[in-house]
Amino acid sequence: MVFIRKKKVSGKIYYYLVENKMVNGKVQQKVLMYLGTAQNLLNKLGSKNQEIVISDLKYFEAKQDRIYKDGAKKFHVVADFDKTLTKAFVNGEKMPSIISELRSRGFLGKEYSKKAQELFDYYHKIEIDLKIPLEEKKEKMEEWWGKHYEILIKMGLTKKHIKKVVDDGKIQFRKGVLEFLDLLHEKDIPLIILSSSGIGDAIPMFLKKINKNYKNIHVISNFFKWNNKGKAIKINEPVIHSMNKSETSLESFDFYKKIKYRQNVLLLGDGIGDVEMVKGFLYDALIKIGFLNDNLDENLQTYKELFDIVILNDGSFNFINEFIKKIK
Ligand SMILES: [Mg+2]
Repeated sequence: MVFIRKKKVSGKIYYYLVENKMVNGKVQQKVLMYLGTAQNLLNKLGSKNQEIVISDLKYFEAKQDRIYKDGAKKFHVVADFDKTLTKAFVNGEKMPSIISELRSRGFLGKEYSKKAQELFDYYHKIEIDLKIPLEEKKEKMEEWWGKHYEILIKMGLTKKHIKKVVDDGKIQFRKGVLEFLDLLHEKDIPLIILSSSGIGDAIPMFLKKINKNYKNIHVISNFFKWNNKGKAIKINEPVIHSMNKSETSLESFDFYKKIKYRQNVLLLGDGIGDVEMVKGFLYDALIKIGFLNDNLDENLQTYKELFDIVILNDGSFNFINEFIKKIK
């Protein structure tokens, strides 16, 4: 049996992780780990298990107050899809994005998987390297998405392949997302899902699968043109990749008139390019929430600078739902 034991040394209390074992009919105790003082223990647990970091509390509260004061009628939400609405890890294993699921599960054949993996290996490193300048990244991402679409179309992507990703794939929504979608629907708050997914056609299918294809949700992503046999023949332009979300002009969409005067905005993303989703929109109060799923030590400072709130360790939507519940 493993348990924590305290020991008083020179008037101070220290904690140890110990194990009791039966040896020759007698109990023997073995120290497995020195844990230090209660304060040491709290510091250690706090840095690893903390779920929410507020970058600037005063600033956040001021914006929050403004949003509550103006109410639901003045408010809308813009969210990324992959690893924002969906989980980043399941049982310690990295969870795929929609497109990586198509690649890794071989739904479109081995040759496609091989070619797509080669592109991923080369370009993903560039995508996540915070030291590479944005302009250079944009160019490379455009190249990646372009080459990838050529392959998808050449290999014969059909609607059925996408349906397989939705039905058989491992992708799971983050805890609290179903409630989040219900809350926005009940309060008639528009939700714009802006995704650079390689196969944006999957997003409405996912929403349908969980019975949340509500009218207040608008999906902006990369959609294919299909022939009458359900085969992809062309990708609609302009292509949205992970670094050009800022160039997506919301004004060109029908729903724009619904959000034009809802100038208080909640932005949800997990990538550094996601903070650009509201660029060009004239907002009053903007709260940006970022999910930092990976490389915590390396990336936390950058995320704190980019987002008002950072949710760590693949956290849930609980904080976001509590915030939305208070908007009347
Ligand atoms: Mg994402």
